[in-house]
This record gives sequence, C-alpha cells and structure tokens, in this order.
Amino acid sequence: MPDPTRDQILAALRGVKDPDLGRDIVALDFVKEVKICDGAVGVTIELTTPACPVKEELKKQAESLVKALPGVKAVDIKMTAQTVGRKIEGELLKGVKNIVAIASGKGGVGKSTATVNLALSLARSGAKVGILDADIYGPSIPGMLGITDKPFADEQGRAIPPTAFGIKAMSVGMLVGEDAPTIWRGPIASRILQQFLSAVNWGDLDYLLLDLPPGTGDVQLTLTQSAPLNGAVIVTTPQDVALRIAKKGLKMFLQVNVPVLGIIENMSGFVCPNCNTVHNIFRKGGGERSAREMGVPFLGVIPLDPRMVEAGDLGTPLVALDPTSPGAKAFELVAKNIAAQLSITNLNEKNVKVRAKEVHLTDQTPPKIVWDDGAVQSYDHRALRMACPCASCVNEMTGEKMVNEKAVPADIMVVEARPVGRYGLNLVFSDGHGSGIYTFDRLRELGKKI
Ligand code: ADP
Repeated sequence: MPDPTRDQILAALRGVKDPDLGRDIVALDFVKEVKICDGAVGVTIELTTPACPVKEELKKQAESLVKALPGVKAVDIKMTAQTVGRKIEGELLKGVKNIVAIASGKGGVGKSTATVNLALSLARSGAKVGILDADIYGPSIPGMLGITDKPFADEQGRAIPPTAFGIKAMSVGMLVGEDAPTIWRGPIASRILQQFLSAVNWGDLDYLLLDLPPGTGDVQLTLTQSAPLNGAVIVTTPQDVALRIAKKGLKMFLQVNVPVLGIIENMSGFVCPNCNTVHNIFRKGGGERSAREMGVPFLGVIPLDPRMVEAGDLGTPLVALDPTSPGAKAFELVAKNIAAQLSITNLNEKNVKVRAKEVHLTDQTPPKIVWDDGAVQSYDHRALRMACPCASCVNEMTGEKMVNEKAVPADIMVVEARPVGRYGLNLVFSDGHGSGIYTFDRLRELGKKI
C-alpha cells in the first residue's frame, strides 16, 4: 500500500473543527507540518493558545481521521501553540501579546484571588504570564504570591519584576506599601498605571493580567482607558446585588470598546473540608443568567473553598498548593475558557476589514450603519433575523439554515445592538432571539448602499 499524499492528509484533517473558532483546523492554518514516511504520519498542529480547552479532543480527532486513511500504519500528532495577540502599540510593550483586565463591581468578591490563580493556571499550561496589580485601594497580589522582593532595575533603568511561581508580578503596593492610604483619583492612578506599563521590563508575555481596583467609577474608567486592553473579565459572586454591580462593570467596558471576555461566578457552592466535594449552599446560576442577559460568555464557577483563604495567607495560591483540589480545577477550566475567548476575539479582530462607526439598527426609518470608511448602508429587520448566524439558526457542520421562516413575524424588529469586541454586533430581536453575533464583515454584505 502506497503512502497517503499530503493532500489526502490535509483533506482528512479538514474534518477536525475547532468548536470555539467555528472553522476546521486546515482553514484556520493550524496544520504546520505534515511528515509521511513508510506508512508513518507525523502532523504538527499549532493552536492559538497553550491553554486551549479542547486541545486533547482536537488531537484525538486528528489522530483517528488520519489513522483511517489507507496506507497509514502509525500516527504521531504533535500539539504546539503560538499565542495570538493584538499588536500592542509602544516599544516597551511589544513582547506582550495580551493585556487582560480582571475587574469586579465591588470589593471582596475574590478578584485578586482569581487573578493569581488564573495566572498560575495559564502558566501551568505553558504560557508566559505576568500580573500588574493596579488595585490602588488594596494591592494584595504580592502577599498572595509570597513576594517580598522589590523590583530591581536593568541597565536602562527599567524595573525588572520579581517572579514567583513562574509569574512576573508588579504591584502599586511595591511603590506605596500595602497599607499606604490611597486616595488617588482617576488621573493620578492612570499616570501611575502608564508608568507601570512603560517603565517595567516585562519581556515576552503571552498574558499580562491587570488587577483593577473594585468598582465602576471614574478611577476604573480612566485606568481601563489608559492600558491597551485586549479584553476584560468580570468577577462576581452569586448574590443578586453583586451581579447587578457586575452588570454596571460590563457597561463600563462596552462604553470604552473593550471586549468583555466573560463573567466568572466566584464563591458559588461550598467545598466541604471533610469530603472535598462541592455543596451548593446559595442559589446557583446567577452569573450565567446575567452573562446571557448581557450577551457575553459565561466563563465558569469557582466554589467557596476554605483552603483558598489559607492559601492566600500563606502566599501560595491554591492552584500551586493543591492543583487537584476542586477550587484549583475550577480555575484551570476558567483559565482555558478565557484563553479561548481571547483567541476568538483576537482572530476576529485581525480579520475585520471595516468597522461600524455609528449603529442605528433599532431605528424604523430605515435601520442603518455608518461605516468607518464613510459608506452608509440600510437594513431590513426581518432579513437580519433570517440571517442570524447563531448555532440554533445555522447548522454548524453543514452551514445549512435552520430558521423557520414562517415562524418569524413580519413586523419583527431589532431591539438591541450590542458591540462584541471590536469586530461585530450581537443583535437582539423582538421575538426574544438574541444569540447571534454578526461580524462587521457579514453586516457589510447584508446591507444595501444608500
Ligand atoms: P477582592 O480582590 O475582590 O477584594 P480577594 O481576592 O482579596 O477579593 O478575596 C477576598 C477574601 O475572600 C480573601 O480572604 C480570599 O481568600 C477569600 N476568597 C476569595 N475567593 C474565595 C473562594 N472561592 N473561596 C474561599 N475564599 C475565597
């Protein structure tokens, strides 16, 4: 039996679809190397993040599809990763691929705990990670990582961040001390943050997590605008009041055009110290519901684990102290979801050719979009509904349309158009349907020139 050709192998690999990016791994240009020799096939697949949540699944699928080809005796699939990022302006940050803000509507919800544990989870997957603790009201990151060293300077006078658990960490606390009274207002906080971004030698990083001060006021808004953020994550607890405040946070990021990667629900359920399993003591699902209402991804729940407090006090995050504990496992999953959402956002943004400057899709006469290249297009509410690209309206595998035309009312309207990252809109219709993300490129095709 002759060896299969490279084309045959690539054709087989087209059957492997990345569920998050919605395309096959050949179309996504993930297949970097194909080696064929005497019935043995070696394939290298390069993912967009080492923390890919479906890495093992993709590998298994690729293996079985290639193995099924005639003439194949052995298959070796190598999974590698090259983190995608957005080009960040500025000489000093050019090695940093992604800056992600970790935010919360109020204090005490576990934002800093989440920041250190997520950073460690990303690092354990093989990514290079840094933390910039910008929580001027209570810089707690150095304590949580057990860092007592001060940063020292390189030859150019830039600060070299101390490292703990493989994470580079800088904190405003290193400047002012953890107990210094902080009454900075927005502009001062913003200047200090910019100094931290530009006067620190971060080196190469896949992810720089920015721990923001809690709240959605002026200080947070200014900080959000003074860092080139690729996305933001919002930490909340199951309580209604915390969720309401989280929604305010969401609005803040949308206002300044920062993609919201999703919501984390912390302290949801209780890890019993005796049996090490999770018991649900509060009402569950609030974070997920809010995420759905706001049209952003839900990144997962973290249980209330008494050992998390102990870990924080010890200066060893739970993910390092006990990587197999339910809390650490939960952080691992959330970290992978964040990495996946960042990949989606970065790839979509990279591909976008034109952006909407003004969106008037909820208007009656007629709905329109003003594009940043000056073009103006009009839309038909019903046609937009019929073109919904969500998973329940289009078959993911075949691309076949599954919208029941007869069930869509003639007078259907767009009732909300929310920005999704910097690459598209999430449209909500008067029939309650609102799960479709329309990329700007797709909207450009759907509009009529006026
Ligand atoms: P924030 O940064 O939002 O102010 P912290 O991360 O400092 O909150 O957490 C506040 C307190 O709650 C800390 O004592 C921390 O150890 C504890 N904590 C946070 N998340 C959890 C959790 N999932 N389980 C148990 N304790 C937690």
